[in-house]
Amino acid sequence: MTAFPAGTILGYPRIGRRRELKKAVEAFWAGRTDEAQLEQTAAELRAVTRDRLAALGLGRDDSSIPESFSYYDQVLDAAVTVGAIPARFEDLRDEDGTIGLPAYFTIARGEGDRAPLEMTKWFDSNYHYLVPEIGPDTTFSLSSDRLVREVAEAAEAGFRTRPVVVGPVTLLALAKAADGAPEGFDPLSRLDDVLPVYVELLARLRAAGAEWVQIDEPALVSESLPASVAQLSDAAQRALAVLGGAADRPSIFVAAPYASLDSVFPVLAAAPVEAIGVDLVRGTVPAAADGLAGKTLVGGVIDGHNIWRGDLAGALDTLEQLRGLGAAAVAASTSTSLLHVPHDVTDETKLDERLVSWLAFADQKVGQVVTLARGLAEGRDAVATELDAASAALADRHSAPGVRDGAVRARELVEADFARDTYEAREAAQVALGLPALPLTTIGSFPQTGDIRRARAQFTRGELSQEDYEDFLRAEIDRVITLQEDLGLDVLVHGEPERNDMVQYFAENLDGFAVTENGWVQSYGSRATRPSILWGDVSRPAPITVDWAAYAQSLSAKHVKGMLTGPVTILAWSFVRDDQPLGETANQVALALRDEIADLEAAGIQIIQVDEPALRELLPLKQADQPAYLDWSVRSFRLATGGAASATQVHTHLCYSEFGVVIDAIRGLDADVTSIEAARSRMEVVADIAAAGGFDHGIGPGVYDIHSPRVPSTAEVESLLRRAVEELPLRQVWVNPDCGLKTRGYDETVASLANIVEATRRVREDI
Ligand code: GLN
Ligand code: ZN
Repeated sequence: MTAFPAGTILGYPRIGRRRELKKAVEAFWAGRTDEAQLEQTAAELRAVTRDRLAALGLGRDDSSIPESFSYYDQVLDAAVTVGAIPARFEDLRDEDGTIGLPAYFTIARGEGDRAPLEMTKWFDSNYHYLVPEIGPDTTFSLSSDRLVREVAEAAEAGFRTRPVVVGPVTLLALAKAADGAPEGFDPLSRLDDVLPVYVELLARLRAAGAEWVQIDEPALVSESLPASVAQLSDAAQRALAVLGGAADRPSIFVAAPYASLDSVFPVLAAAPVEAIGVDLVRGTVPAAADGLAGKTLVGGVIDGHNIWRGDLAGALDTLEQLRGLGAAAVAASTSTSLLHVPHDVTDETKLDERLVSWLAFADQKVGQVVTLARGLAEGRDAVATELDAASAALADRHSAPGVRDGAVRARELVEADFARDTYEAREAAQVALGLPALPLTTIGSFPQTGDIRRARAQFTRGELSQEDYEDFLRAEIDRVITLQEDLGLDVLVHGEPERNDMVQYFAENLDGFAVTENGWVQSYGSRATRPSILWGDVSRPAPITVDWAAYAQSLSAKHVKGMLTGPVTILAWSFVRDDQPLGETANQVALALRDEIADLEAAGIQIIQVDEPALRELLPLKQADQPAYLDWSVRSFRLATGGAASATQVHTHLCYSEFGVVIDAIRGLDADVTSIEAARSRMEVVADIAAAGGFDHGIGPGVYDIHSPRVPSTAEVESLLRRAVEELPLRQVWVNPDCGLKTRGYDETVASLANIVEATRRVREDI
């Protein structure tokens, strides 16, 4: 057995420095290239990655380079590898039973009336994975040897890489019961059936030359899954006994990123595996446990979630503490895969130099891990220069202008800032808005057409003057307002044509943020976002949305909603500073939004929506951490909106947040109206509200699933709406789509909205 490498990373971004994989995959989907061409591009990307990682200091032949490529998603990869696909895709297998690349993409994206796998958030990150569907009849068999081929491909190029695979416990714990499974069926009950396939995979990987394999089991740190910690712990024990007991296998490294293992750590320590990875950024150094003597402890001390260069000397201290646990060896690693950070900070040409010196993207983090590995092997003095440089950068960051802004910090908050008048008083004051029963509205954005994107790109490149760009946007707003009036909506929106992204737009207009050129991070499949960097105290140099809102309002006698992104969502979708509690940062953003709301009111806007689609997303994995999160997140929203007059109607949009999970927070937000997804889940929210003992503020359960180009029929919308008004008091119910319309085309948008208007008219007739 070869030793575990002294330094490694849990995974590397796979989209490519210039999103090469996205482009290649989308070209294949569009039929512009064939499978062989796509495979070729992907193989080149993997080769570039291996060479890059070796150049950055990871060993070519010591298993320190992870084989963590994926065409779409690592959970789908695992499901396909073990053949766990829904019955509706079974006919896509090749004659020999394998699942090829075209079938893989069809499972990810759907085809005709074959729905794709559902997508949901990966732990507390912004990455989304595909949810496997597993039932009592799911058959498990090795159905893809892609990972095996990648190990062989690397070997041919002179590398010994470490294949990475989502482990059996996590695969099943994240799965949902397949259609037709009996009530209460638990996919984890199939653990013993899937393990032989993993055993077979291990043998194949070993035969291809792998000396180590990384089995990712992040489910073991979560207290937010249907399975209890005790069930997960028991499953891990059984699974690792089988995998560890396999006769013919590489050495096993079990990684459990995203939080601390707590009570599951001793289970892993006692298991017949050779290395255990712990997240020491989100978690803390565990207590010593039996069974560590022959194992390597892999300390995830470099933050895989964030982009700061951080405290390298402190990271080495933590690794030294880990040495005290009695393991045979300690290795340095990232806390999670580097999937969550962009490739390389040296690709940024427009960032302030000083800011750059505080940052570490994926490539810089690899360098940090290599330094720590050397520090572990040769002693602190051997890496003193690197440690000192990181400490100096950190000290510089603490003292730099803008990181602490006296004017921002001088704003004192009193308890009254966090509360508006009672809901009853507000409701009475808002009668003056003159809204009909079942008010019809949309969530904010209208389709972002090719024309809009082109104009924005031309403006960014300086090919379109500010004046011409603004004329273009005003014409766009004119069109959207006229369209809404023609359709007969009650509360209008300006359509958000000026926003590239609901967070980046605010980041670009607030002090304390920086935006990147190439800082892409995979969000799901071929989609990537470019999170902004929140590095300093946040303030608003000038009003942001007021001119657009006022312009839109000037075009109509109906109310036009002001449209803002809330503090929690701005934080969730940015890289945030790690030098103060999140709640403090959230309050700074909230104060900027509070000023914006005051300016919107002064400009005559009487309905203001503050979007918080990420409220559910940031909910911590550990139950003990949830109350504190809910407290600061709710308070920041209340601080943002607490200055609004009683007669101003405050809306929030919670997107795909599950109503039942965040009900206490929703009550706490105290918005006058809350819109939330309900069409895709067929009005589940109505039952959630009943289960939660009712909800008395305005509620807009979505009646149009905007994730699909499908136009919902009038009858369909009508039946959703009737369900809502049967179960909820009429005065509370609003009519709106699930979310904004920016990803839709105009044809289906207009047809769908027309059907929603007609369905509402029919329901109103009966009230
Ligand atoms: N107002 C935003 C829009 O309509 C909300 C988007 C979201 O919830 N993700 O686009
Ligand atoms: Zn939404």
